[in-house]
Amino acid sequence: NLILAFESSCDETSVAVIENGNKILSNIVATQIKSHKRFGGVVPEVASRHHIEQVTYCIDDALCEANVDYDDLDAVAVTYGPGLVGSLLVGVTAAKTVAYAHDLPLVPVNHMAGHIYAARFAGELHFPALALLVSGGHTELVYLSGPYDFKIIGETRDDACGEAYDKVGRVLGLTYPAGKQIDEMAHKGHDTFHFPRAMEKEDNFDFSFSGLKSAFINTVHHADQIGEKLDENDLAASFQQSVVDVLAEKTVRCLKEFPVKQLILAGGVAANQGLRTRLDEELQAFDDVELIKAPLRLCGDNAAMIGAAGYEAYLAGIRGGLDLNADPSLEFDWI
Ligand code: ATP
Ligand code: MG
Ligand code: FE
Repeated sequence: NLILAFESSCDETSVAVIENGNKILSNIVATQIKSHKRFGGVVPEVASRHHIEQVTYCIDDALCEANVDYDDLDAVAVTYGPGLVGSLLVGVTAAKTVAYAHDLPLVPVNHMAGHIYAARFAGELHFPALALLVSGGHTELVYLSGPYDFKIIGETRDDACGEAYDKVGRVLGLTYPAGKQIDEMAHKGHDTFHFPRAMEKEDNFDFSFSGLKSAFINTVHHADQIGEKLDENDLAASFQQSVVDVLAEKTVRCLKEFPVKQLILAGGVAANQGLRTRLDEELQAFDDVELIKAPLRLCGDNAAMIGAAGYEAYLAGIRGGLDLNADPSLEFDWI
């Protein structure tokens, strides 16, 4: 089974060829970060224009690198939400065009399902499974009772985790996106500021990161006003410790309430070294739960993960017609 997969939900144009849902024959990722950096975030109008420029080159490169032809393909998979509508539409239109021209089934894929299935490239998935999904726009605990069956157990009530990283990074004068750099700084500092750990002890599976973000920003601004110089590595370490503590605590509580075979760590923030190490440690207390982490290079947006999820969706009989539309606020159901 060969799937041509498309991802264009935000600021990466990506096309991949995936064999049997778990082998990457090619995964072309054209990132637009350079164009958005000077604005400190993704500018939707700029993003969709870049997608239009890039998408056909990405298709050619993906097929060429995989050494396959349109005739070899079994299906076309595409992210149709959530994300920026103008960006999503480019991938959806390209995928529909290929599907129509070559008479291939079209498989619509939820971008967040894609992030979860990036873990498929780290090993086989076993169900039931719990996913800690941490990205630029989402922070969720997702229960999978079986393949391609997703129910939200808890989520952030305000900022997403990656969003908080990027916003505090801005205050430190770091370039967008700041997650990786803060992660690196955190390893050179210590938790000297003890920022709040919102909702950590609350008996639910939800998160909140806006209070932490505000505490961080207030601390930096206050120091600026009185002319005090704070240690930026300690600020980063303190911020990261708060984030990791809350994510770990809630995930562990969730594992106790919903017994599963695997914990899947996925999403852009799953690249965080502090979080990866901490979950390794926490999982030692769970004999029967295996931790499966999305491979580092597949944590951020890419079409390979859409191909992996698309393969499962294809097997589940999920199909889109030529009337498939982008759904910018597409969500999983609640448990
Ligand atoms: P979504 O998937 O929710 O639609 P998105 O696609 O924009 O949002 P991703 O590409 O999954 O988000 O992840 C990007 C986010 O990951 C950014 O906020 C970035 O700062 C963050 N990030 C990347 N690497 C790290 C890291 N090592 N530590 C913390 N955050 C990181
Ligand atoms: Mg991105
Ligand atoms: Fe994403």
